[in-house]
Amino acid sequence: MGRGKKKQAECTYCGKIRRLSEDHVPPKGLWGEPYPLDLIVVPSCKECNDGFSKDDEYFRTIISIAEDVGDHPVVQQVLPIVNRSLTRKDFPGLPKTILRNTEIVYRQGTSGLYEPAALYTMDRPRIERVISRVIQGLFFHRFGRRLAPTYFAWSEMLGMVPTKVPPVFTPLLKAFNNERLEYIGNDGFVYGVLIDSEDPDMTFWILVFYGRCYFIGFTTPKEMKPGDGLEELIRSRFTKGHGLGDLTPNLQHLKTLGL
Ligand SMILES: [Zn+2]
Repeated sequence: MGRGKKKQAECTYCGKIRRLSEDHVPPKGLWGEPYPLDLIVVPSCKECNDGFSKDDEYFRTIISIAEDVGDHPVVQQVLPIVNRSLTRKDFPGLPKTILRNTEIVYRQGTSGLYEPAALYTMDRPRIERVISRVIQGLFFHRFGRRLAPTYFAWSEMLGMVPTKVPPVFTPLLKAFNNERLEYIGNDGFVYGVLIDSEDPDMTFWILVFYGRCYFIGFTTPKEMKPGDGLEELIRSRFTKGHGLGDLTPNLQHLKTLGL
């Protein structure tokens, strides 16, 4: 408000010099009202600050109706809003999208009997767009500057209550301990970041929504695409010789988060 709105400055996302307003990271629509006071905001131009976009709404819907998140207080607050948005007659696109991508499967329950369950196929690119933006915003929030324009933010979804973390990520997760994690908005969002000591634009993130929905994210040079070289990248840049290898593995806090 006030000064920030009138003064021209650099937008967190596009880097253009504009009149800026505040953009919430992650989107504040993930919470219900009254909004927690500790939500993160970053300066953003009007074009980049599109409020609660369709991607954001999709993301909120998918993670809030997921199995096992329902007992989180933030989800209980936001679910009535999600349900309303799913029954809106003037905007049938979202429920249709979700139904089209849902199939009923039978799986073995704890009793040993097979029970029906809804299996939903997510629109990953859409989710990744939301997370990439969140990482760019968090980068600004933590380091007080934009991510270098030759770098980009990308993510991998570990899923809901991941029981098996892909081995390639274990050394990174081990490097986190409680002090490195920040709890935002009644624990509706938790994140942590590691920085490559030789390259301050190369970072690794862990993001947890509603205590159950896990992502890991990276900022890397644009030519360094996720995929084949990922394991090598992690080994060479984030673990060996960067002071991380000496940390006592502490997965206990991740267990308390459900990992
Ligand atoms: Zn912008």
